[in-house]
Amino acid sequence: MYDVVVVGARCAGAPVAMLLARAGRRVLLLDRGTLPSDKLSTLYIQQPGVALLRRWGVLDAVRDSGCPPLERVVYELGDVRLAGCASPVDGERAAYAPRRFVLDAILADAAVAAGAELRQRCRVTALLRDGKRVTGVEYRRSDDPDAEPVRVPARLVVGADGMRSSVAEFAGAEKLVQHPRLTCAYYAIWSRFPADFELYEGPTGWVSAVPTNDGVLVSAYYPQDRFEEVRHDAQRHYLDNVRTNAPGLFARLGDATQLEALQGTGDQQNFFRRAHGPGWALVGDAGHHKDSLTARGIGDAFLQAQLLAERVAPVLGDPAAPDVPLDAASDAASDAASDAALDAALADYAAERDRRLTESYQGTLLVAQAAAREQRKALLAAVGRSEELTQVYFDAVAGLRSPTELYTPQLQAMLAGR
Ligand SMILES: Cc1cc2nc3c(=O)[nH]c(=O)nc-3n(C[C@H](O)[C@H](O)[C@H](O)COP(=O)(O)OP(=O)(O)OC[C@H]3O[C@@H](n4cnc5c(N)ncnc54)[C@H](O)[C@@H]3O)c2cc1C
Repeated sequence: MYDVVVVGARCAGAPVAMLLARAGRRVLLLDRGTLPSDKLSTLYIQQPGVALLRRWGVLDAVRDSGCPPLERVVYELGDVRLAGCASPVDGERAAYAPRRFVLDAILADAAVAAGAELRQRCRVTALLRDGKRVTGVEYRRSDDPDAEPVRVPARLVVGADGMRSSVAEFAGAEKLVQHPRLTCAYYAIWSRFPADFELYEGPTGWVSAVPTNDGVLVSAYYPQDRFEEVRHDAQRHYLDNVRTNAPGLFARLGDATQLEALQGTGDQQNFFRRAHGPGWALVGDAGHHKDSLTARGIGDAFLQAQLLAERVAPVLGDPAAPDVPLDAASDAASDAASDAALDAALADYAAERDRRLTESYQGTLLVAQAAAREQRKALLAAVGRSEELTQVYFDAVAGLRSPTELYTPQLQAMLAGR
């Protein structure tokens, strides 16, 4: 019997497993794939996420992987240009953009080092139940369709299995909030050339450059309604997008080589799912997904892992407690009490998730709307006239402050032309 089965061993699931194993809980971590392996992502981890990596003791491993610190952000929208960096969080000023085959493997290794058991190539195919309560998972070997299903009982099942979460589907976790897709994204890794973390917004889309372990990731985003057109000749459209919307960056690409094939997606969903039920919870993309344009998914996954683990660890039993024989009646009463304590901890986690992530969700929906570009330009032109507001802007982009803090009397006066 495990205390917890975590389904999905990447940046949401591995930290949950690591934190709960460190708290002395018996944890099984399952993934249908194998690690290290790559994953669709433009890689950028903002300062709050970096601070959690440090708190968890794995930031040195990320640095040692050769991933460069990113201490300068350049943002250009037409002729408006802002340059700066978010304020440090717990002393960490730099952002990082590690390749996912680096980051996810570091996190899974940390979970195993903490005592979690990792089983790879194991696809969860059903949830076990006792009435309405989820009591474990059934999985099958991904590499052997004829293998018998394996049933694993657990007090808590955590779905950290991505945007198309099977755990969410099996648990019946409905989408509580949902908005249409707004963008589509393509990116490739290029050989190293001088670059900061750079963001451009131009007449036909968004472009970014992100230095990573083995080169620079250059991405191009388009409004969602162009996806069908773009996907049929993605490489040509990708280069056109960079040339049109980030001509200076495009010129620098002339000295670099595209090292890997273009990757992309048009399936950038925007939603919050119900985050918990009796005996189950969702973390990371499984429970909440938003357009990747604002680069929040990894940090949000870390935050949810931390919030969930700190709430459920104390109520998943005390591993140091001696085995005291109980009669059947008091046994049942004690089970009901501990189930109720677990459900209360899960409800608290869900409420905190929504409280912490709703504003950045709404902000992302605004940023990913091409139609709001002229308003954004006026705002950034005003912000750029004040050092103080520029700092607030970079802090808001990184998630350290609310975007509403930008709207000082000074900014409002500038916007009104006073
Ligand atoms: C184009 C793009 C660019 C992005 N850029 C950024 C960025 O710059 N910065 C940022 O912070 N975020 C970015 N994101 C978002 C970020 O990649 C995700 O938020 C993050 O990967 C979520 O992690 P996760 O662990 O929740 O899910 P995932 O990374 O999707 O991992 C889920 C895991 O679950 C496993 N799994 C699935 N189903 C099962 C099953 N039935 N049984 C067992 N295992 C299963 C999968 O094999 C996988 O390993 C981007 C996303 C996209 C698409």
